[in-house]
Amino acid sequence: MAESMLGMKRTHRCTEVSVSDIGSTVTVMGWVQRSRNKGSLIFVDLRDRSGILQLIFEEGKTPAAVFEKAVKLRSEYVIAVTGRVAKRAGAVNPNLRTGDIEILADELRILSESETPPFPIEENSRTRDDIRLKYRYLDLRRPDLQKNIFMRSRVCQIVRSFLTDEGFIEIETPMLTKSTPEGARDYLVPSRVHPGSFYALPQSPQLFKQLLMVSGYDRYFQLARCFRDEDLRADRQPEFTQIDMELSFVDVDDVIDVNERLLKRLFKEILDVDVQIPIQRMCWQEAMERYGSDKPDTRFGMELQDVTDIVKDCGFGVFTGAIEKGGSVRGINAKGQGGMPRKKIDKLGEFVKDYGAKGLPYIALHEDGTCKCSFAKFMTDEELKALIAAMKGEPGDLLLFAADRDKTVFASLGALRLELGKQMGLIDKNKFNFLWVTEFPLLEWSDEENRYMAMHHPFTMPMEEDYPNIDTDPGHVRAKAYDIVLNGTEIGGGSVRIHQDDIQEKMFEVLGFTKERAYRQFGFLLDAFRYGVPPHAGLAYGLDRLVMIMAGADTIRDVIAFPKVKDASCLLTSAPAPVEEDQLEELGIEVRPQEGEPAETAKE
Ligand code: ASP
Repeated sequence: MAESMLGMKRTHRCTEVSVSDIGSTVTVMGWVQRSRNKGSLIFVDLRDRSGILQLIFEEGKTPAAVFEKAVKLRSEYVIAVTGRVAKRAGAVNPNLRTGDIEILADELRILSESETPPFPIEENSRTRDDIRLKYRYLDLRRPDLQKNIFMRSRVCQIVRSFLTDEGFIEIETPMLTKSTPEGARDYLVPSRVHPGSFYALPQSPQLFKQLLMVSGYDRYFQLARCFRDEDLRADRQPEFTQIDMELSFVDVDDVIDVNERLLKRLFKEILDVDVQIPIQRMCWQEAMERYGSDKPDTRFGMELQDVTDIVKDCGFGVFTGAIEKGGSVRGINAKGQGGMPRKKIDKLGEFVKDYGAKGLPYIALHEDGTCKCSFAKFMTDEELKALIAAMKGEPGDLLLFAADRDKTVFASLGALRLELGKQMGLIDKNKFNFLWVTEFPLLEWSDEENRYMAMHHPFTMPMEEDYPNIDTDPGHVRAKAYDIVLNGTEIGGGSVRIHQDDIQEKMFEVLGFTKERAYRQFGFLLDAFRYGVPPHAGLAYGLDRLVMIMAGADTIRDVIAFPKVKDASCLLTSAPAPVEEDQLEELGIEVRPQEGEPAETAKE
């Protein structure tokens, strides 16, 4: 039976009690981590969010009624205890902050009983993810998850304090809004008052933050919830949080400067890690050529080598064919992997197929000076030698190649490099390597849409020196866009925005938007820009990913209190769920049955 805590007041959290309290009386409250009954002595580990404290109930010393009650204690009961702090009579536990003290209980109330939980509440749980998520409120009691959630809160707090000190104003932008230009699918919310019309949940506060610059707020930030209805991909969440900011009268360097100082402060205060600023910058083209990725993990080398010139006249049709079609041949040198078994190399060949490569030509250089080359019969000895030299191949190395259009070469070698880096143990998990990737292409050709798409979004400013070529060579115009990359993960990105109508109009034209369509979608922004708009720029971080890396968590689910799973459902609440027929009727919505099944509505 649950008792009231009336008359008892908590004096300390568990680990706030210390040796200096020995002899004094304290009242603590929390959950029973475990209770050990040794006959005349009952040991209880009491847990709250601060940690664990040992309670002692001793027959003869503890009042009899209290002792009797203590016999009933089970894991996860919620209790309140008043008692005297004493030096531990038994062995000191060096693993606990409170390991050298205990509480000799005088009073005990059982505030709430608990059924046996479906899994033990302990660190490093081996419980299946779906069970953990169904009982998320219990999972969240585990100290390792609590540590992540506390860290997340501190990150937010430091961000707020830093940005406020830098003159940023925290402003909320609407959740029920119109489609934003981030390029993913929107989550729609039907309007009851305007049947047939829909709000979109924001994919980012992009347009609103730009409007705030028009309104003269000068520096804005928000910890903004964003929604993107993307296809199922591992470790994505349909709703996520951005640290979003926008600044007026600035250029690329100003945004980078304030953000470097923010990152420095965050990593120092939270992890005691010194981030060296200025952070290294690399333009997009260089990142692709050296690492095959626009978010390179620079914690290890194994950079790509361009060998197009070396092999352009060789007899290997795979190489020359790719070059003739305007592509390239590039390779990576997996140092010391020359003895890799054929089967394992074949597996790598399968691996790169996922990235579009048709094969994985290789040269294995053996320690005895011989080599095995998968395309040897097409090459003269001189050609082979020149290729090995270009790859800086030494006995014991494994040289792996890709020949295709650049996009495919970069994607496959970039992924292969990462895979080998992992397999070969080249990645130092204790390192935090930051990198700015700058000068992204403004546009990206989409085969599906048969037109150029904005690589960042349609409001991103082209680089001044490239803009004159936008009509003749749009694919090579670079943008004033930047990403901040940490250990191979993009943790944030942004751009300088277009604030001149002529450039914006041109941008829409290149993107294949008619004036009407641009107006329909973004008319309010374009109108606003007619009334005096300052040059402005901004950036947004993915808070979940940032905290995930800082906390050393394996998935963003471990830094979000109530995450969803891969198919965007919530195992705790069973959302999304069918709704009542009359709710749909009010909204003027009829659900079309899916593939012959009757439409599902909520059951009584
Ligand atoms: N709105 C952009 C994003 O969500 C960030 C920015 O351009 O500031 O990625």
